[in-house]
Amino acid sequence: MKIELLNHPNEKLAEIAIKMCRGKKKISLSEAVNEELIRRVVDSGHESVAEHVNFTFRITGLSRVTSHQFVRHRIASYSQESQRYSDPLEVKDKYWAVIPDSIQENPEAKKLAIDFLDESIRVRKKMDELGIKLEDSRYFLPNATKTAMVVTMNARTLWNFFNFRICSRAQWEIRRLAKLMYYLVNDVAPALFSWWTPRCERGCPEKCGDPVSNEIEEGTIITGKTIEYLPKDKRD
Ligand SMILES: Cc1cc2nc3c(=O)[nH]c(=O)nc-3n(C[C@H](O)[C@H](O)[C@H](O)COP(=O)(O)OP(=O)(O)OC[C@H]3O[C@@H](n4cnc5c(N)ncnc54)[C@H](O)[C@@H]3O)c2cc1C
Repeated sequence: MKIELLNHPNEKLAEIAIKMCRGKKKISLSEAVNEELIRRVVDSGHESVAEHVNFTFRITGLSRVTSHQFVRHRIASYSQESQRYSDPLEVKDKYWAVIPDSIQENPEAKKLAIDFLDESIRVRKKMDELGIKLEDSRYFLPNATKTAMVVTMNARTLWNFFNFRICSRAQWEIRRLAKLMYYLVNDVAPALFSWWTPRCERGCPEKCGDPVSNEIEEGTIITGKTIEYLPKDKRD
């Protein structure tokens, strides 16, 4: 899974919005950010000021299982690779599907998964030979198939997304996605994110006893505004 932060504004925008509400109309984007003020105002419930700060991500190597969970977060803009026009099986990368660690680590389950993926390729090739269009043969692609998306979310919706998905109740893949996204936005907008902590640490009502942190995992590579998680079998 790879995430690039394609675009982000100056987080000072949130402070300009706060100060506008208080009659200050000449605050410049180039002035230093007042993190304490932003945090205090947001803590008071005046969260809409964070809606002016939008982040655009390019995400690749995510399974369709997780992209379906992701798009349930409605206060966001999504563009997703279409399986009508793009054939994942034509991708040269042999890793065209996500195989969970629990399956990678169990030889019998892994063999079942690989056989199933090979069978998917056979079915797709045969459908092609029979003249079936991608828009119909895609019905037989597995949920594990990788997808790609461009997503734009504002800081307020990201808080909500992190609250639900950097959580032990969330599945590992969307939790990984959320943690990687958190790393990128915290790096460029610390006034809006550095103080955010998982609900586990803030006293979650569920008290599941299985707290998670927002730390990124081993196997993560950071290059500028790009962050990539390499599965164990792809590391050196
Ligand atoms: C652990 C976990 C398990 C889940 N299991 C399931 C499941 O089994 N089945 C399933 O269908 N979904 C499931 N979900 C998805 C979940 O119900 C939400 O759809 C998803 O997390 C998106 O959250 P959201 O609505 O807060 O986000 P957004 O859609 O981004 O909305 C953000 C906020 O805006 C407000 N809002 C948005 N739209 C409305 C609206 N129409 N009316 C009122 N307020 C609104 C709410 O305050 C909401 O929190 C699960 C989520 C998690 C984290």
